[in-house]
Formats: sequence, structure tokens, C-alpha cells
Amino acid sequence: MRGKRVVVLTGAGISAESGVRTFRDNDGLWEDHRVEDVATPRAWASSPDVVWRFYQARRRQLREVEPNPAHHALVKLEEGLVDFLLVTQNVDDLHERAGSGDVLHMHGELSVMRCEISGRIEHRMEAADLKESYLACRCCVEPSRMRPHIVWFGEMPFGMTRIYEAVETCDVFVVVGSSGHVYPAAGLVDVARSAGATTVLVNLERPENADRFDEVHLGPAGELLPRLVTTWLDG
Ligand code: NAD
Repeated sequence: MRGKRVVVLTGAGISAESGVRTFRDNDGLWEDHRVEDVATPRAWASSPDVVWRFYQARRRQLREVEPNPAHHALVKLEEGLVDFLLVTQNVDDLHERAGSGDVLHMHGELSVMRCEISGRIEHRMEAADLKESYLACRCCVEPSRMRPHIVWFGEMPFGMTRIYEAVETCDVFVVVGSSGHVYPAAGLVDVARSAGATTVLVNLERPENADRFDEVHLGPAGELLPRLVTTWLDG
């Protein structure tokens, strides 16, 4: 893989071995909540307290979990390649904490909050930021309520121009721990294939879209990825 242009897309499965539960592995529930109840603009408008409590609990959970060998393996891959982009659907910060340099969070980040009026973002992870009460921004004269900097269902993912440019010109496209249900992320494998890239999947189980990959490696990412990265960098 050395000398090749590589794009890696990660999903909830890469953080599963760190103790962050995935979405599809729980019958469509994310930490016991239906996604429509906590991850849509409609839910925020109609039941902000429920949505706020859900995300504050997820934000507090970040302080209890650690990156696992799969996150660390991607740091090693990044260090061994010249042209590398890590795109994640995950809203946790485990890639950054493992040491990944440039992480494109296409679905947003739990550690960041966004002013509902100005749209400005602030990194807010102090103990006082993790309580039940709403957070007020530091940008408006009359401080405004902040919302999670998360791309909810029905909203536009972040960084799509950069992502498409990278995927359309990559030589190898690797997906780790994603069920391939959430679009547009799930469609990136087709963009990569059309561009002639080799497509590789590392996932616990065989997902529905597995036949769109040239190589499929089934098993826990924390076990498979460190070995695969060593092979890719040696080969
Ligand atoms: P998903 O939950 O739909 O699918 C996870 C996939 O990972 C499944 O196919 C499962 O078989 C696989 N998996 C489970 N454990 C694994 C392991 N140890 N090693 C390798 N694979 C494993 O996840 P998704 O495709 O990322 O979509 C869910 C959406 O929900 C995302 O958009 C994401 O923003 C959000 N979400 C994020 C987190 C997080 O930030 N950690 C957690 C849950 C959900």
C-alpha cells in the first residue's frame, strides 16, 4: 500500500471494542433509544430535554472509554503513508485520542457544541459542560442555547466535497466497522469502485453491501486491523 492514495472510512464498529455501543447491533437502537427520538431535528424541536440528556450521557461516556488497537492501527497506517485521509461516521473522539492527525468527522463530534443562532462551534468538554442543564454560547451578546454539533438524520453531512474528491482519486478505499445502511457514507464504496480503486471491508459480520468490496475481512477490528496494517505497510 506504500505510495498509494488511501482513504479509510470508519463506523461505529471500530469503537465497539472500546465499549461504545453500535447502532445496528442493538436492533436499531442506539444506547437503548430509537434514532428518531434522539437524532433528528424534529426530536430536538419537540423534545429537547430528551435529546439533550441523551447527548450529555454520550459526552460523559467519552471520559470513560479509551481507544482500542484498531484506532491505534490506523495511526500507524497514517504514519506509513504519504497520501491518507481518515473519514469517520463516528461522533466519539477515539481516533484523535489514539493520535490520528487529520480526522474528518462527517457526522459531527460529541465534544463540540454549536450556537443555535450564529452557528459558531466551541469545544466544550469541561466538567461544568457535562451537566444536565443546557449550555449557553460564548459568542452572542445575549448567550444563546447550544445544540450538539451532530449531523442528525435529514441534515447534510460535513466535508462532503473533500470526501468525494479524495474517494474519487484514491487507489484503495477501506471501510472499518460500518453496516452500510447510513447514506451518503454507505454509497462511498460505489464512488471508489467507479474510480477504479481497490475496496476493502473489515467488519464483525458480513453486511448487506459486502459484495461491493474486493476484499472482505470478517472479525473484530481490534484483532484484524493491526495485522492487516502491518501487511499493507510491508506489501
Ligand atoms: P452501525 O451501528 O450501523 O454498524 C456497525 C457495524 O460494525 C455493524 O455492521 C457491526 O457488525 C460492526 N461491528 C460491530 N462490532 C465490531 C467490531 N468489534 N469490529 C468490526 N466491526 C464491528 O454503524 P454505522 O454504519 O457507523 O452507522 C451508525 C450511525 O450511528 C453512524 O452514522 C454514527 O454517526 C452513529 N453512531 C456513532 C457511534 C460512535 O460515535 N461510536 C456509535 C453508535 C452510532
